[in-house]
Amino acid sequence: MTDDAGLVRDTGRFDLEADVVVVGGGGCGLTAAIAAAQGGVDVLVLEKQARPWCNTARSGGMVPAAGTRFQRAAGVIESPEAMAEDILRKNGRASDPEATLNLCRVAPHLVEWLVDSVGVALDFVHDFKYPAHTEFRMHAPPSRTGAALWADLRRAVTGHPRAELVEGAGATGLIADEGGAARGVTVERAGRVERIGARKVILAANGFAANRTMLARYCPEMASAYYFGGEGNTGEAIRWGQALGGAVAFMDAYQAHASVAAPHGILITYAVITEGGIQVNRDGRRFGDETTGYSEHALRVLAQPEGIAWNVYDERLHQLALGFEDYRQALDAGAVLAAATAPDLAAALGLPVRAVAATLAEYRAAADGRRPDAFGRRDCRRLEPPLRGVRVTGALFHTQGGLQVDAAARVLRVDGRPVPNLYAGGGVAAGLSGHGPGGYFSGNGLLTALGYGMLAGRDAARAIREDGSEPA
Ligand SMILES: Cc1cc2nc3c(=O)[nH]c(=O)nc-3n(C[C@H](O)[C@H](O)[C@H](O)COP(=O)(O)OP(=O)(O)OC[C@H]3O[C@@H](n4cnc5c(N)ncnc54)[C@H](O)[C@@H]3O)c2cc1C
Repeated sequence: MTDDAGLVRDTGRFDLEADVVVVGGGGCGLTAAIAAAQGGVDVLVLEKQARPWCNTARSGGMVPAAGTRFQRAAGVIESPEAMAEDILRKNGRASDPEATLNLCRVAPHLVEWLVDSVGVALDFVHDFKYPAHTEFRMHAPPSRTGAALWADLRRAVTGHPRAELVEGAGATGLIADEGGAARGVTVERAGRVERIGARKVILAANGFAANRTMLARYCPEMASAYYFGGEGNTGEAIRWGQALGGAVAFMDAYQAHASVAAPHGILITYAVITEGGIQVNRDGRRFGDETTGYSEHALRVLAQPEGIAWNVYDERLHQLALGFEDYRQALDAGAVLAAATAPDLAAALGLPVRAVAATLAEYRAAADGRRPDAFGRRDCRRLEPPLRGVRVTGALFHTQGGLQVDAAARVLRVDGRPVPNLYAGGGVAAGLSGHGPGGYFSGNGLLTALGYGMLAGRDAARAIREDGSEPA
């Protein structure tokens, strides 16, 4: 019988059995599957969408890690502890320090394993820093798209003899025994519900940003915001874990973004802002320090008339942004306008000419050190004509709260003991972003997705091997 939360208390006959069942075929799920398959057990990945377009595929593919050989080769010597300190500073020391340090220590091994043993192409990113990053530490596909990262992960799973990926197969519930241990999942495939038994279940179905009811409960200020993530992220896996006694944390945490081209719906890299650009509103005026973080700044954008702002930057930043495939798409779509002078740009963008000119003059004075920035921005930089402008809005990207997990990504009960056989990662797990939008630190998303995915897959395989029983 399935209860309201999707928990099935019946371990009768299964239609199919696997050593490990992974719910969700995004970054966390695919990483978990490869790690488990490499550990010598059979894995079945269930993906709800027939043509997946998960958050990992939509992302910028930026994976943070301090202490990789790629970072060292670029001359950057940094410890995982320093990266953890950046994350903790950004979230006001709200995230669990042990969990934060654990993932930061895992990160360099994760990145090198992805490149060396999984076949993911990652380059070290050393031409711009995200807000609050004190060092260059991002690793991204050459195209700087999550689509390339996801495609490499998917190829590794479909090419592994011990792993199987089934798309168009949404898990509808978690099967548990009377002792409270996960035993499998129910899945709906081609209109039929099947029962799949598993020794270990890994929940990798992301968070609840596509579920307006859960948003209204946990992140009410985002309940009606423009959502830029995957449609599959409806939060059921978090509810199943809770129904089995799993504790949740940081349910009010989320990542928003201040720079999505409107109406084009294309991400405009925040590098154009952190490296010197500004945002103005319909009145041609700035409305905050853009560099505190794109997540919290998104709320300031949404508070402007019509929830709209304009990125204003120069040719140098335009050239930097051309390194991003989505920016090139925005250019092709006509979202990026160019003009020789500030008045011409204001006219092209439909903004008040004198106000934009005055705003740029004030910003230049701050960049030249002639006066402090009105919003306290510390790294104001000169913008030199010709200029560029893009009309943008703020958007919700994903939630960051979920099931509490231990260092091996096992789901924890309220009393701190693990729920037997149950793992979680990515958006299903409690993240490292503290509360609200402001604790999000660029890279926290993929760090918890791929990091917990690798840990969960490895631990599930280890536990099955040590169990002594033959894999399924
Ligand atoms: C535009 C954008 C840019 C971003 N850029 C970055 C970045 O550069 N760096 C970074 O660190 N983070 C970034 N993020 C955040 C990052 O994308 C996410 O945190 C991360 O991808 C989450 O991975 P995941 O595996 O948990 O979820 P996903 O990749 O979304 O995968 C979850 C999958 O589970 C499936 N699913 C859901 N429910 C079920 C079910 N019941 N049964 C079966 N399948 C199910 C979904 O359909 C989906 O395919 C970005 C996010 C967005 C939206």
